[in-house]
Amino acid sequence: MVAPLALMAADGFEQVAYGYDDATGLRAIVAIHSTVLGPGLGGTRFWPFATEGEALLDVCRLAKGMTYKHAAAGLDQGGGKAVIIGDPTRLRTDELILAYGRFVDGLAGRYVTAEDVGTTQADMDLIRSVTAHVSGVSEALGGSGDPSPATALGLLWAIRAVAERLWGTASLTDRHVCINGVGKVGSALANHLHAEGARLTVADIRPTAVAGVVERTGARVVEPDRAHAVVADVFAPCALGAGLSAITIPELGCRAVVGSANNQLATAEDAQRIHDSGVLYAPDYIVNAGGVINIAQERGGYVRARADEQIRGIHDTLLRVLDLADTDGITTAAAADRLAERRIEAARLDRRQPS
Ligand code: NAD
Repeated sequence: MVAPLALMAADGFEQVAYGYDDATGLRAIVAIHSTVLGPGLGGTRFWPFATEGEALLDVCRLAKGMTYKHAAAGLDQGGGKAVIIGDPTRLRTDELILAYGRFVDGLAGRYVTAEDVGTTQADMDLIRSVTAHVSGVSEALGGSGDPSPATALGLLWAIRAVAERLWGTASLTDRHVCINGVGKVGSALANHLHAEGARLTVADIRPTAVAGVVERTGARVVEPDRAHAVVADVFAPCALGAGLSAITIPELGCRAVVGSANNQLATAEDAQRIHDSGVLYAPDYIVNAGGVINIAQERGGYVRARADEQIRGIHDTLLRVLDLADTDGITTAAAADRLAERRIEAARLDRRQPS
């Protein structure tokens, strides 16, 4: 049994709130890790967790990740996340989503929700009818819409930064990039890279997804379980997390890994393992921040051109992370964490200053 307060104390959580609604069967947990930089923003995962303890561990892990992601991206937002326990295909009703929205509203803006696995933009639009504390609503409601194109644009800027660092030029002409997972983000990235003159190899478990990209870009195809081993300049994992492990890292055929998948390193030790292998690892939460940067623009009234300009900042942030890793003699993953922690600490000290 996981003890909630002990878990919160171990990682410095501010608040964990439980929501229950008898009429709709809603069972939800919101974890707010930090509001030092601003309201705790993060998506709502609707998932059939086997136990409450498993749901609590997951929501806390994800909320803490959001604190770091926002801090490193320079956003004035803290880290939060929510889970609704259950199978969305069986449990989801409009009434349940509205009950959940009212639960979020009760947190008075300390937590701002968004879409995640198991929830949709239509759910966010519904939640908007009972609370202002929701983002990622549809463009018709003044929102920023699907974040995937923004995430792909951020990856493109990150790959340019890596090219500058490794090859002394941001040009991607004739660079070979292997993309594993050509869904919403991976296929948009393939389009960008093709337009820049890069050569592509792609993999996906869905043959139709692969076929579409091949038709548009002339990409080569590889089996998903061999994508990491393709000899290429850049490997872009854009499917699932935990793909970089003790087994796959020694087999990597690329000079750099830059992809959108969350939690790419299977274990904490893999940060050192990939560092020692000589492959440049661009930390996942730095390079896949395009989506959250895009959503953050909703606050001041969403303007796509302004969002795209902000997303460009991922290029500079990644170069700062790589510099910090070099100067401090640490892995790129540790450097990303250090950058985020420094920003949070500075804001915390700032708050303590008498005005
Ligand atoms: P998606 O579901 O549209 O695409 C994922 C693709 O990966 C699908 O085409 C799927 O068939 C494929 N896939 C699944 N398992 C695979 C496997 N074992 N091998 C190869 N391919 C496999 O999702 P997406 O929105 O494109 O997101 C891709 C990844 O990026 C996810 O890990 C997501 O969490 C992460 N991410 C996405 C965003 C965003 O804005 N969409 C933002 C940050 C992070």
